Amino acid sequence: MMQRPGKIVCVGRNYREHAKELGNEVPKQPLLFLKPPSSIIHEGDAIVLPAASQKVDYEGEIGVVIGRTLRRGSREAAREAVGGIVALNDVTARDLQKSDGQWTRAKGFDTFCPVGVPSSTFPKDFATLTVVTRVNGEERQRATGADMVFPIDELLSYISHVMTLEPGDLVATGTPSGVGPLAPGDTVEVEVLGVSCVRNTVAAER
Ligand code: ZN
Repeated sequence: MMQRPGKIVCVGRNYREHAKELGNEVPKQPLLFLKPPSSIIHEGDAIVLPAASQKVDYEGEIGVVIGRTLRRGSREAAREAVGGIVALNDVTARDLQKSDGQWTRAKGFDTFCPVGVPSSTFPKDFATLTVVTRVNGEERQRATGADMVFPIDELLSYISHVMTLEPGDLVATGTPSGVGPLAPGDTVEVEVLGVSCVRNTVAAER
């Protein structure tokens, strides 16, 4: 189980097809937002759909766990700062994301950040990482690091010019196309193939 990160830095619209499916342009620079560490759950825990939302989507993502401090780092230094790769689900209340404008509430509910067990043995070339999302065993998303608008080392370097990335911090690198809603009783699984996996059930708020 991964330790609780000091912060979770996320990247929006980092895959062309996903930006397009929601009617958005691809950003000229990485689009950053934060999720609270209190949103983290683990393998087997339930994602709780809040009563405040009518549409909660899964977003399967490649997560990066920072291994050593990175401040104003180059892309090369960023690659060296990666301590682990982890499967991550950036669960999002899509209706609240639209109505609020700001994304904090939509992305920040308790249980909205399932994470797997990070692996410290991962390919050196992040472009070869593949993320797959399945709902009730049916594949819904599949993409590789090569499909990203901004590759992982560039993202980490960019973030580190804004805020220091510290050991244990978690970076969610964006979701590919194929996002969709979750319903009570669903099982959703995000896998970074051969590296990390997280599976969760879905429940309505009581
Ligand atoms: Zn996301």
